[in-house]
Amino acid sequence: MAVVWLDDVRSDDLDLVGGKGASLGELTSAGLPVPPGFVVTAGTYRSFIEDSGIDDELFSAVDVDHEDSAALKAAHEAAHDLIMEAPMPESVREEILDAYGSLGEGDAFVAVRSSATAEDLPDASFAGQQETFLNVTEDDLLERVKECWASLFSERAIYYRNRKGFPHDKVDIAVVVQQMVDSEKSGVMFTRHPSTGDEQVIVEAAWGLGEAVVSGTVSPDNYVVSRETGEVETATIADKKMMCIRDEETGETVDREVPNEKRHARVLSDAELDRLVELGELVEDHYDAPQDVEWAVYEGEVYMLQSRPITTISGEEDDSETTESSSTGNGDVLLRGLGASPGIASGRARIVTKLDHLDQVGEGDIIVTEMTMPDMVPAMKRAAGIVTDEGGMTSHAAIVSRELGVPAVVGTGDATATISDGDVITIDGDKGTIREGEEPEEKQRQPVEEARPKTPVKPMTATEVKVNVSIPEAAERAAATGADGVGLLRIEHMVLTLGKTPERYIEQNGERAYVDEIISGVREVAEEFYPRPVRVRTLDAPTDEFRQLEGGENEPREHNPMLGFRGIRRGLDNPSVFRLELDAFRRLFDMGYDNVEIMFPLVNDAEDVLQAKEHMIEAGIDPEKREWGVMIETPAAALGIRELADVGIDFASFGTNDLTQYTLAVDRNNEHVADLYDELHPAVLKLIGDTIEACREEGVKTSICGQAGSKPKMVQFLVDNGVSSISANIDAVRDVQHEVKRVEQRLLLDSVR
Ligand code: PEP
Ligand code: MG
Repeated sequence: MAVVWLDDVRSDDLDLVGGKGASLGELTSAGLPVPPGFVVTAGTYRSFIEDSGIDDELFSAVDVDHEDSAALKAAHEAAHDLIMEAPMPESVREEILDAYGSLGEGDAFVAVRSSATAEDLPDASFAGQQETFLNVTEDDLLERVKECWASLFSERAIYYRNRKGFPHDKVDIAVVVQQMVDSEKSGVMFTRHPSTGDEQVIVEAAWGLGEAVVSGTVSPDNYVVSRETGEVETATIADKKMMCIRDEETGETVDREVPNEKRHARVLSDAELDRLVELGELVEDHYDAPQDVEWAVYEGEVYMLQSRPITTISGEEDDSETTESSSTGNGDVLLRGLGASPGIASGRARIVTKLDHLDQVGEGDIIVTEMTMPDMVPAMKRAAGIVTDEGGMTSHAAIVSRELGVPAVVGTGDATATISDGDVITIDGDKGTIREGEEPEEKQRQPVEEARPKTPVKPMTATEVKVNVSIPEAAERAAATGADGVGLLRIEHMVLTLGKTPERYIEQNGERAYVDEIISGVREVAEEFYPRPVRVRTLDAPTDEFRQLEGGENEPREHNPMLGFRGIRRGLDNPSVFRLELDAFRRLFDMGYDNVEIMFPLVNDAEDVLQAKEHMIEAGIDPEKREWGVMIETPAAALGIRELADVGIDFASFGTNDLTQYTLAVDRNNEHVADLYDELHPAVLKLIGDTIEACREEGVKTSICGQAGSKPKMVQFLVDNGVSSISANIDAVRDVQHEVKRVEQRLLLDSVR
């Protein structure tokens, strides 16, 4: 039998129908309203590749070096062609088409979804990797089933399995074919409060098909219903700009603007909420565990599309957040600086000068150095803490240590002179102090675990809360925060760690190798976050940073590099390197990383943006299809935002680290004027506020990715002014989520009082 009906499937049929199929079968059998459908079994796929004799060739084609992106692309193409070109046996074709014929009136629109069966793989990171096709009809059904089979060998899937050392021939794939619910409204429901486990049902709802809610492209309404009284405790009505619907003519799924009268309207009636809660209770009873459910409403009926257990309710009260900073030891304070990365650490000081060998830094030592450099990162990972003489909150040391979760105190002035190599010290990255001696009972730091919220599901906010990443190694920790995506991925670090200027590296290794380096760094982050969006910025390294690299002697000497040859101006002036970055983006899109977005740094005016856009088009990237935008880092860009919007940007992101320095004429790296550096200065806020207002009128999303996005006061200001998203440091994501929620609720209360 090539197919089985969902009615006949149970949750233990995983091998036969994969995870998605098994879960839908179980819901159907529990009597819940699931749209009807069937599954082309995993065995059907397996017999297809074996009987057609393509299996050996298939598995050897994908046995490639996964870091070699050219080989990966060739492997994908070979596998895809093998599967698409091998004929499907007549008996299988007939069975699938027969089953299709008995759905609806025989000409139903169906969803065709891959359902992989790899028992040992964590479902979460595996699930998103295969194809789903919506609104499929008889004409292309068989092709789509084969496309699902072939998607087992997408570049991403091959990369993922090779990286994890998971054999390709141990993974099978089933295909779910299910009647489409042409939903008028849809969303998700948690049958218990996902953070607290309280007896509350949380529902998120938007107009149209559920894709928009699940992928996070719209801000849904949010309803909280008490399970005890059945009453709607809060209903937060979002501004729903976009919806996903089926195009009547082409049958394809398209994004549409929500008609004006529905944009601010409440999606769910009390009766629909009642029905959802009722179904939620049934499904929770059936599984005997709180559930996270995808649902849709069609012609007044509520359907259930998927259900998974909520894995985040631990039932244990969190007591681990007793602030470590209150337990500082009694040693004298030796030095003070800026607390740049929170936490307390004790260890032996290792004075590292630029000439020193970093292998002197052992596990648990504290690095004491003038200023960190990209090539210190491996040692920074081993270290328990970091102390620098120079630098501010936006310096390399500060950014990298926050991302690694290593406590750091920067800008102490003379730590390298005051502290001796081998001294045992304790640093407090919250207070910015360095004390003599060791902290007793120092807790082991586990950076990934610490970043993971103790109440792991994020507070649901209409404003998205994202995270900044500068070193790909921090991707796992960043993703563990539960952030809605990456608001800024800097690629400077990837380039600086090459140890050579881009020009020198390309001279010695070729353009392809340079593109591959960028792809590999970005992919690490895009993979970890998929399908959450990752906003990647083109290169923005000032000449003084390049000068320290091999080949740096050719960099122009500049009086003030902050005002010099950096950001997009460098890219446009010298497009040969810039174009390679764009090539890397195009390749990432080709590989299926449709969650990658492009951001241009330090633009001043529409002419800059227009030129960047033209380069993008020449590199084969369609600006209409991809999300792209700019940083707002200069007053010129803020004041000229309407002209930038006219060029077609999707988003504008405030780089307050630079916007502050250029508005106030305060060099962000100059400690003599550090006390004048104020991101909350009224002039900076006015530029930001006016830009948000203009962007709202122009339909451009706004965000912040400067350091100030992690500060509560800035968060309040931005949410009050209607910013679309906020991108914070890894360690600040949780607090920012709560702050955003608090402000949103206040705004809501103000509007009804
Ligand atoms: C900024 O300017 O705020 C920003 C995020 O960019 P960078 O710190 O890399 O200059
Ligand atoms: Mg900047």
